[in-house]
Amino acid sequence: MRMELHILGTSSARPTGKRQVSGSIIQCEDGIAVIDAGEGFQTRYADQRKRLKTHDKGSTLRASRINAVCLTHGHLDHTWGVLPWMHTMALDKRETPLLVLGPTSPEVFDALLKGEAIPESAPTAELARQIRGWQGLGATTESLGYPVRWVLGDLAVDRWLEMASDGTASLLESMPQPEGWKKNRMQPLATHHTVPSCAWMLESKGGVGKFNRLKAAELRLTDDQKAQLSMGHDITTDDGTALSSDDFRGEERPTTRMVVSGDTSEMAESLTTLSGVDVLVHESTFLADAQQWADEFLHSTSTGAARTALACNARHLVLTHFSARLKDAELPLSEAKNEIEEHDLSVTAAVDGDRIKISDSGSISHLVWTGDGWSS
Ligand SMILES: [Zn+2]
Ligand SMILES: [Zn+2]
Repeated sequence: MRMELHILGTSSARPTGKRQVSGSIIQCEDGIAVIDAGEGFQTRYADQRKRLKTHDKGSTLRASRINAVCLTHGHLDHTWGVLPWMHTMALDKRETPLLVLGPTSPEVFDALLKGEAIPESAPTAELARQIRGWQGLGATTESLGYPVRWVLGDLAVDRWLEMASDGTASLLESMPQPEGWKKNRMQPLATHHTVPSCAWMLESKGGVGKFNRLKAAELRLTDDQKAQLSMGHDITTDDGTALSSDDFRGEERPTTRMVVSGDTSEMAESLTTLSGVDVLVHESTFLADAQQWADEFLHSTSTGAARTALACNARHLVLTHFSARLKDAELPLSEAKNEIEEHDLSVTAAVDGDRIKISDSGSISHLVWTGDGWSS
């Protein structure tokens, strides 16, 4: 498994009977990041762990493996679960450092750096306001007992700062990556919403396949011959057999990308200019006939999500963040399929508890939570 996303909430703005507000968990070889954590996040996280324990013994999503929280924007349906969950991890004696990342505006960024108050013109859902509030409610390294970093970015110019618990802020050289991550990185992609917002991309670097030591041993190659082949040189053995280094390499690992959009109008430039994406998880708040509302509130329609996926050359699109008015996701799904027509792009709609997996070889699967296990 290269990466796996657990979608824990698929409703927009408020919970419905079947759908909860936004919150996802993305897992890779290096660790785990949470992408958004709306109201009730910790309950849904605990539920998902119970389901995994019962139905899929392999993965556990342990909290100590979570290195980062990546927020897409400050609206409460995406953030209101952060603080209680952080307190629970303190009760559980967490020790692992936690990095919290999110977008802010240039005005707020400047004010924080100068040590000034957050400008009144900043939206009520400004992340810096929430972080100050949470720090006041004990979300600090000192109170929680595990290291917490609060980092905000002015994405247009890629400036980053860290908000300390004493009210000061310091400029960082670049966006810090989750601690200990080597082959995978989280990258914000600025999007277009009523407050500063971004999508988050998990990118897993590709590379050459592993050297086949077993095959080399079977042919009784010398250390020098093995070294030559492993460095990519073709050789000829003493008995005149020509050996190609390619035959001793496992399959090359492709670079793999999964993007989770947050709230945005369609065709956000940072998404459409990507050279290719394996999986795009995109909001689909409205049906196609409500394009006017989508434009007014800076959300996307089902067809807008499909247009964005086509523009960024996505292999697979997952629709999420559905309006509470919708009975189910059949309609948005068929609208998106119509938009895609004969293009080489598949699309599915998410239900709370679903898992989106990308395997080592790059194959994609959407595991649907049925209430009693996952079906693919
Ligand atoms: Zn939302
Ligand atoms: Zn929003």
